[in-house]
Amino acid sequence: MTFKRFALGGFAALIALSGFAGSAAADEVNLYSARKEELIKPLLDRFTADTGITVNLVTGKADALLKRLESEGMNSPADLLLTTDAGRLFRAKAAGVTQAFVTDAISENIPEQYRDPQGHWVGLSLRARPILYAKDRVDPTMLSTYEDLADPKWKGKICIRSSSNIYNQSLIASLIEALGAEETEKWATGLVANFARPPKGGDRDQIKAAAAGQCDIAIANTYYLAGMATSKDEAQREAAAKVVVFWPNQDGRGTHVNVSGAALTKAAKNTEAAIKLVEFMTTAESQAWYSEANGEYPVRAGVAKSQTLQAWGDFKADTLSLAKLGENNGDAVRLMDRAGWK
Ligand code: FE
Repeated sequence: MTFKRFALGGFAALIALSGFAGSAAADEVNLYSARKEELIKPLLDRFTADTGITVNLVTGKADALLKRLESEGMNSPADLLLTTDAGRLFRAKAAGVTQAFVTDAISENIPEQYRDPQGHWVGLSLRARPILYAKDRVDPTMLSTYEDLADPKWKGKICIRSSSNIYNQSLIASLIEALGAEETEKWATGLVANFARPPKGGDRDQIKAAAAGQCDIAIANTYYLAGMATSKDEAQREAAAKVVVFWPNQDGRGTHVNVSGAALTKAAKNTEAAIKLVEFMTTAESQAWYSEANGEYPVRAGVAKSQTLQAWGDFKADTLSLAKLGENNGDAVRLMDRAGWK
């Protein structure tokens, strides 16, 4: 196994500390996953069948798992953390519970902007947060950019969840990078003035509200729409059929995207097996399965999209390094607060 130069220091130090020299029993991995079991288990089973490495899975809520890692510290049994949003992966790194691990194989498979610059985390699936509009009430030629949503023409027409949600914090962090903090705050103030209602519920609730006529436009991650479109529940399928994806900022930086991803814990004892698992999750085959199971996009280029996603067409994604979403998170939160975004 070869390692990127930036990862060498940390890994060499770890080898020295643990006496690990490739001969340690690398037959299990302890995984803390914010992904639900059914969205990850089949892939883990395939990994075990291929490698003989057992994966011990602990699932939980993203923020609770990070808290747990922090309180366990070096006594944590976890080798890998699987969680959603680059903002959370950044928090895990900032909390000091991760270490550099990204190998050449992983770097080759996953574009640079979807990895931590120091190799502490890597994106494994891609989620887009575009504009969704009610097709019977919105003329899509009126739509263009996120920035345009602050225009008074959208007064009382926009549904979006609370500013306490990391997906929105990351979206604002991307705007800060593109426009600067001052412009972004002006924009956020205009956006809040266009809200159809005080923020409530999750992304799915914004889509339902647009379908039900409570607003014309929702901002939500696309996998929620994919989940609704393929739901067993007829009401959800009907709601999903009433909204259309609009890819904003296609003439500029592209639509805001984010990742779910993996980080190697600082306390990891099964380092080699854990890295093998992440490498396995970046193969073309794993990427196709994982993205389809989660209604997300593959993070690796050249992997086929599911049919649901194909129907929404191709789009240009913002190429911003997602580490910036974490770096700008504090500014984003304060700015949204000043803008009156509940
Ligand atoms: Fe989500």
